[in-house]
Amino acid sequence: MAILELPQLYKDVQAEARAVGEQVAPFAAEADECSEIHGPTLAVLRASRLCELTVPSAYGGRFEQVDPLAVCVAREACMKASAHLDALLALQGIGSYAIALGGTETQRRSWLPRVASGESLAALALTEPEAGSDLKAITATLRPSGTAGEGFVLSGRKSFISNAPVADFFTTLVREPASGEGEEDRYSVVLVPADSPGVRITPSPEIIAPHVLGEVDFVDVPLTAEHRLGTPGRGFAHVLATLSVFRSSVAGAAVGLMEGALEIATRHAVERHQFGRPLARLGAVANLLADSWGDLESSRLLAYRAADMARQDPATTLDYSSMAKVAATEAAARVVDRCVQIMGRWGLIKGSRIEQYYRQARPMRIYEGASEVLRLGIAGRLCRDVLEAGATPAERGS
Ligand SMILES: Cc1cc2nc3c(=O)[nH]c(=O)nc-3n(C[C@H](O)[C@H](O)[C@H](O)COP(=O)(O)OP(=O)(O)OC[C@H]3O[C@@H](n4cnc5c(N)ncnc54)[C@H](O)[C@@H]3O)c2cc1C
Repeated sequence: MAILELPQLYKDVQAEARAVGEQVAPFAAEADECSEIHGPTLAVLRASRLCELTVPSAYGGRFEQVDPLAVCVAREACMKASAHLDALLALQGIGSYAIALGGTETQRRSWLPRVASGESLAALALTEPEAGSDLKAITATLRPSGTAGEGFVLSGRKSFISNAPVADFFTTLVREPASGEGEEDRYSVVLVPADSPGVRITPSPEIIAPHVLGEVDFVDVPLTAEHRLGTPGRGFAHVLATLSVFRSSVAGAAVGLMEGALEIATRHAVERHQFGRPLARLGAVANLLADSWGDLESSRLLAYRAADMARQDPATTLDYSSMAKVAATEAAARVVDRCVQIMGRWGLIKGSRIEQYYRQARPMRIYEGASEVLRLGIAGRLCRDVLEAGATPAERGS
């Protein structure tokens, strides 16, 4: 019996996602330079059933609950084929998970089936111009309105929001000012339809690995209690739950990127000869290949392990998802750098697949939790576990 083998269910998802990747491969290089939606890529995604992975089955999704391991293996295949495809798929889950988790039945029924089919595009709006890693510093504010306080008004700016120009709704983290002395501001999540009055989208700066991004201004957007997602004041719980489920899938995407880059570099190293032999047989190049393969395989194991743990209990496994994300995205940076090195001047050609992978690896260490910030949480958990329980979580088998 193979112990560390994916069950057939996940192999099937993997095969399905690879087939979708093959369909976008002919135009992936073009799609991956787009900072607007690439129509043919979105059409392939919509025609596939992959978005079902991001929604529970009661609302048109695939599995009873969103399965982090299924999302992880699907993103591995998608990212290898196209970063644009991967981002489109990932955002469906990242943007809608708070609805699945804390939405009312009406909210779930009106949005999730359309997310599962890819008809509606989702966005998660946390970051602001002055608040990135430190989300407690957000200033987007939800204030009561109306004479009896029956409504709310949202004002503020969210920045670098994926899908912003095309999203149908924004799952938005907001601050609610304290209502009385001695009380503290609270953080909540609201669901803002993109066609609400006062929602204005402008482009974010272009980044080195193009991405569909926008700045979202909420100019006195009128909302009601029906736009709330989950319990008022529990905003961070919803954000953390989303990250628990989806952060390990960033690790999966990083593994897919490594696979793609290493395949290209390996082919080059076998085919190109210098000093009378293939590059792959020159010791230093062999070292680069071997170390990269090791990085890839170890990242994949940790990604699957963290995703599997999140599948079983997302509430207590965020640190493993963070660990998998840090390990895989930092490894992807090393691996893709080595791959460029192996390819010499051909690694530097603008718009080539390897050069695209090189640029695409960079933002992965920043979004959904920058490596340094995630390490703080991981180290904190390690210290707590060792000091309080006398053993690391792994030793205790958790
Ligand atoms: C391609 C892309 C897509 C994105 N999509 C979205 C999206 O859909 N929704 C959304 O809300 N946001 C999105 N973001 C924003 C992203 O989440 C932020 O960039 C990220 O949280 C980091 O915040 P920051 O860029 O403001 O960096 P900062 O928080 O300013 O951090 C800058 C540097 O300081 C380090 N640092 C910060 N705090 C600490 C600390 N306490 N200890 C040690 N080091 C620290 C960081 O690790 C980093 O290296 C996206 C960003 C990118 C690049």
